[in-house]
Amino acid sequence: MKIGELAKLAQTQSENIRFYEREGLLPEANRTEANYRVYDESHIQRLAFIRHCRSLDMTLGEIRTLLHFKDAPEENCHEVNALLDEHIDHVAIRIRELRVLEKELKSLRLQCQAGNASADCGILSGLEKAARNAKHHRARDLGHAAHIQRTHQQIALSPRSSAANRPNEVRSIRVR
Ligand SMILES: [Zn+2]
Repeated sequence: MKIGELAKLAQTQSENIRFYEREGLLPEANRTEANYRVYDESHIQRLAFIRHCRSLDMTLGEIRTLLHFKDAPEENCHEVNALLDEHIDHVAIRIRELRVLEKELKSLRLQCQAGNASADCGILSGLEKAARNAKHHRARDLGHAAHIQRTHQQIALSPRSSAANRPNEVRSIRVR
């Protein structure tokens, strides 16, 4: 099958398939004489595996390790277990970060009660004040759990997730 068909079956986009190929997660497709990529059943399964791991917010590096062990059934899997433990830690760190974020937002919310003229809005002036001292926020953003992005998906992709972490990968499924 061609790339479009594979993308449809795997509910992802052709860009992602090419991206995983470049990253070495998916084996290179064979080419037809007209130089089209052709894929088979094994690609569907591997792609489903990758997509599922991505839905669990694993990094490409983590998935690469998992695939290595999938391809080496005789190897001891203790590294897989360790990887999962580590990833669970990443999630826990992210949860703590989100709790801090929630607290910040709640205290910001308390800065404005009844509707005022926007010029007097405590939230807007609080945001402006915080923006002036924003350096520490950026430092915190670079924490090692930064790849756990799920909670922001519905809102917007933050710059660090699209640029630093997953170049060229489209996370949401566009409906055509
Ligand atoms: Zn992780």
